[in-house]
Amino acid sequence: MPQITGLVFNVQRFSLHDGPGIRTTVFLKGCPLHCFWCHNPEGLHPWPEVQFFPGRCVGCGECEKVCPQGAQQFLADGSRFYDRVRCAQCGTCVEVCYAESLRLVGKRVTLEETLLEVLADRAFYETSGGGVTLSGGEPFLQPVFTRALLAACKVEGLHTAVETSACCPWEAMEAVLPVTDLWMVDIKHLDAEKHRQATGVSNRQILENIRRLAETDRPLTLRVPVVPGVNDTPAEIGAIAEFVHGLNLRRGPAAPPISLELLPFHRLAGEKYRSLGMDDAAAELTPPSAEQMASLVAAASLLSIRVTSR
Ligand code: SF4
Ligand code: SF4
Repeated sequence: MPQITGLVFNVQRFSLHDGPGIRTTVFLKGCPLHCFWCHNPEGLHPWPEVQFFPGRCVGCGECEKVCPQGAQQFLADGSRFYDRVRCAQCGTCVEVCYAESLRLVGKRVTLEETLLEVLADRAFYETSGGGVTLSGGEPFLQPVFTRALLAACKVEGLHTAVETSACCPWEAMEAVLPVTDLWMVDIKHLDAEKHRQATGVSNRQILENIRRLAETDRPLTLRVPVVPGVNDTPAEIGAIAEFVHGLNLRRGPAAPPISLELLPFHRLAGEKYRSLGMDDAAAELTPPSAEQMASLVAAASLLSIRVTSR
């Protein structure tokens, strides 16, 4: 039988923001959305990529010697150039770059090795009420690996959580319902056109999947990245709160109420964008102030849903 593998770009141990307690968060690479403010740009593309940090380069020239594509270059004027078009993402240059100016992001890993890494912190999960969270990118872009890892973690008795955009076939989400203890689903905007402008995709499938998920009894938190000019008005956040309120009214008596979490946009991803040769379209945005976040929380709380913010 072929091994189950996934393309993972980070395994974050001792994570405190991806569900209850101390957790290990496994970030899967590749996302169907392209939110222009994304703070994990290294998770967008479903293939390995080389990050280049010019400030760390010591000019040793080792990468140029080993690159089979001629993509690592020193030009006649002495300047250093990494040609991303030529690069085949083989990772050979990364192995010889002891200055860590080059880094390969995205590694194909087996289910077994990922599970072992997750289990290493079992003692911390048990004392803190934590567990494992699958995030991304979008976990359901790799449905076989996601399902297998969640199921394996449940067999080990771990608390399991998923962070998802819900931009995927419902069947992928439905398949992991029995092995997922907590769902955290992003919601960016209720207006279809504004959603498409901000993320590159329609919100139709996302909202439909959220409605279906809400009809189950699984614990669910909807998370809104609050982004200036996208969804940062009391009216827009209030509309999302109304949507959540409507879902709660239709939820069965055994299901815990759906909560809402507002996450302020931050500008910490600039170096990641530069290292990947990507345009940081949110570089000029000003993060929402604490006062603005408080007023948005107040607007969302009018409907007696539980609203939190960071
Ligand atoms: S191997 Fe690393 S430090 Fe050396 S020239 Fe290449 S990028 Fe710079
Ligand atoms: S990843 Fe491979 S192809 Fe790309 S620059 Fe490095 S050695 Fe060359």
